[in-house]
Amino acid sequence: MIKFSKMPYERLDAKKYIEDIKKLAEQMKNAKTADEAFEVHKRMYEISGEAQTLIVLSSIRYTIDTTDEFYVKEEEYYNEVTPEIETAMVSYQKELNESKFRKELEEKIGKVAFKNMELKAKSISEKIIPLMQEENELKLAYSSLIASARIDWEGESLNLSLIRPYLTDVNREVRAKAWEKCSSYFESIEDKLDDIYDKLVANRTKQARELGYENFVELGYARMQRNSYDKNDIARFRKQIKETYVPFALKIHEKRKNRLGLSNLSYIDEGVFYKDGNPKPNRSPEEILANGQKMYSELSKETKEFFDFMMEYELFDVLGRKTKKAGGYMTFLDKYNAPFIFANFNGTSGDVDVITHECGHAFQGYVASTLPIKEHMNIGMETAEIHSMSMEFFTEPWMDLFFSEEDKEKYLQMHVEEAAVFIPYGTMVDEFQHIIYENPELTKEERKSVWAKLEKEYRPYLDFTGSSYLERGGIWQRQLHIYEMPFYYIDYVIAQMLAFQYKNWLDKDFKEAFASYLKLCKLSASDFFVNMIKEVGLKSPFDEGVVAEIVKGLETKIK
Ligand code: ZN
Repeated sequence: MIKFSKMPYERLDAKKYIEDIKKLAEQMKNAKTADEAFEVHKRMYEISGEAQTLIVLSSIRYTIDTTDEFYVKEEEYYNEVTPEIETAMVSYQKELNESKFRKELEEKIGKVAFKNMELKAKSISEKIIPLMQEENELKLAYSSLIASARIDWEGESLNLSLIRPYLTDVNREVRAKAWEKCSSYFESIEDKLDDIYDKLVANRTKQARELGYENFVELGYARMQRNSYDKNDIARFRKQIKETYVPFALKIHEKRKNRLGLSNLSYIDEGVFYKDGNPKPNRSPEEILANGQKMYSELSKETKEFFDFMMEYELFDVLGRKTKKAGGYMTFLDKYNAPFIFANFNGTSGDVDVITHECGHAFQGYVASTLPIKEHMNIGMETAEIHSMSMEFFTEPWMDLFFSEEDKEKYLQMHVEEAAVFIPYGTMVDEFQHIIYENPELTKEERKSVWAKLEKEYRPYLDFTGSSYLERGGIWQRQLHIYEMPFYYIDYVIAQMLAFQYKNWLDKDFKEAFASYLKLCKLSASDFFVNMIKEVGLKSPFDEGVVAEIVKGLETKIK
């Protein structure tokens, strides 16, 4: 094993890789025994692991420095070749699917893997490759536009990650000014953003129709690997949120409004929880990492081993720099069985969330990396976010390693409150996308009025007076998932509902709850989502009444 900076990179020879995939497809087809077929499949694990590692290395190094010409070119190359690689992979999976030894293979690899292959096959085909390439270019256009944002702030020029702390500044005038600057910036690129989204919706609708779908919704679900629930389940879930959860969120905001001493809650106050400002970590970035190590070494022996590994092999890049891509993520380097965490520390409590949330993802990846069946690592996002969002709660007892005594209490309260008020927003993003893709002919203006209308249903407590851009319903243009990962967002909401169940559980019995969590991490994707959560003692949020039950538990935690 080598440190991240020493990991060798060379451009993946896509042509050769595609040929190799096709060869294995041929061998799969001609396998004489079940064992032989499985050997071919194991060979596939190897070559795809090698290829994946190069692709991920390039992507990480690009996001670490978006001005690095070398990796900019590499990213362009991968955007171009990825659809062809994926279709070759689908042709391999087709042979696997149709293998004479399907039954034996299914016993080894699992039902979920085969269901996922089916979904993949239904979401990709040779004939939509040019459209998929165009879609990738549009997504790249969006992320470059956002990454190139420079906002003038007291003589400094800040990107969107670095301006973020000012949006929740303790001084109301400062945050009003920061919001004003950000909104004007978005307004200045509004036409471009509209144009990119217009093209994306048209492009995705066209892909769906080429594949025989009525619109993009079902294709979007297949792409999201929704293998055990459908849009009706989601629609029922949204209904529970609207009826049962939104009134609860209203109460939280009422309390917060009073705590802040405001007569109404404006959009500029949405991220502010205390009159004297949100709690901030009182440690340097280096100390946050070092204390993260201490925390995970105390939480469990599994988490200790994981964090030590991350530190030893330089698998964190978390310091904020101007040329880094905004946001944070966790990814995985197959060949090295190594998670990688990317973030932009900016001195807010968000830095601690990286150590809890992104490390939750990374921990699960680390735990699952040694599973012999690689498909079991292929988790759906709703499951992945349970690992991360629940870790945020399991690490609560160690928050004094990051905050002063007073701020620790504030942080714990803010954390549960912030998670709680996210739910209506996340659900709204989902409903918005359903409406958009079910009505692809909507104009740019109509899309914004759809959003503005949803705001009134999901966040009636927020006052947008003062920003014409927000009043018109433009704020979704900041939400990169809407552009880059359609239908992803509800996964956060589903997962948060499960994480809340862990919160309610661990407050009663930490040990038992953590054991269940560890089991869930190890199960990875060996079974369908709905089965797995039940197996570890959680309830499906799609079931009637579960949202109400969660709200009941949470109500006692909002002070
Ligand atoms: Zn996450």
